[in-house]
Amino acid sequence: MTQEALLAALRLQIEWGAEEALEEAPIDRTVPRAAPPAAAPGPAQRPAPALVMPGRAGIGLPRTAPPAASRAAALAAQADSLPALRAAMAEFDGSPLRETATNLVFADGLPESGLMLIGEAPGGDEDRLGRPFVGVSGQLLDRMLGSIGLSRETSFYITNILPFRPPGNRTPTDAEIALFLPFVLRHIALARPRHLVLLGGVSAKALLRSKEGITRLRGRWHEVTTSDGQSLPALATLHPAYLLRNPAAKRDAWADLLLLQRSLASQ
Ligand code: URA
Repeated sequence: MTQEALLAALRLQIEWGAEEALEEAPIDRTVPRAAPPAAAPGPAQRPAPALVMPGRAGIGLPRTAPPAASRAAALAAQADSLPALRAAMAEFDGSPLRETATNLVFADGLPESGLMLIGEAPGGDEDRLGRPFVGVSGQLLDRMLGSIGLSRETSFYITNILPFRPPGNRTPTDAEIALFLPFVLRHIALARPRHLVLLGGVSAKALLRSKEGITRLRGRWHEVTTSDGQSLPALATLHPAYLLRNPAAKRDAWADLLLLQRSLASQ
């Protein structure tokens, strides 16, 4: 391949959001690689064994690993505290997002505040620091909530639908959202907030199980049912990253904040 063609391929990958390296050292694909060693006869040619999980105590029989969705649901259900849930999510290896992310981004703020905000997925700054909403959109969110007297230190708890950054900050796929939803529902059940705020379309559609867009869902209270059957009021509102791109929408976000403030004051 010519240098020009290689540069064009690289540009295309960047445009598609493939900006994460999976290897520590770059591979020079312009140098012909040595042929792989001839396969040794015997056991090496047998098909790879199915991934085996430890059997249940006392039975001792190996069993095939259940699919990622069942493992996510089981790990989430077993977590009986927020630290246990964090550990379960760090242990869960059923998503390729874990391989490209730098850190698990679990949550920030005060879990016992009674108010829980749920965004979409970590961006680059969040991935680097392992905390949600610490980049520019998080700073805008903090200022907006500060204007109604709320802060992370004293008045709310915040997390995301996905705990890992999607490469290139692309929108999470439906499959990724469905895979991590049991963890999010368990997270809500363990934090036991009295009110939820759903930041943006991904969060609102996932938790309200709705196909409607955020512009139709925002500005009113809905209901979310957690994994232990609690029903909670949930306010859908615009994502701060959307507000950075569309400053005119801040008027709607402000109306939503006032609605939140009134509801918190009247509880
Ligand atoms: N956007 C999100 O939805 N979550 C973050 O943590 C940061 C940006």
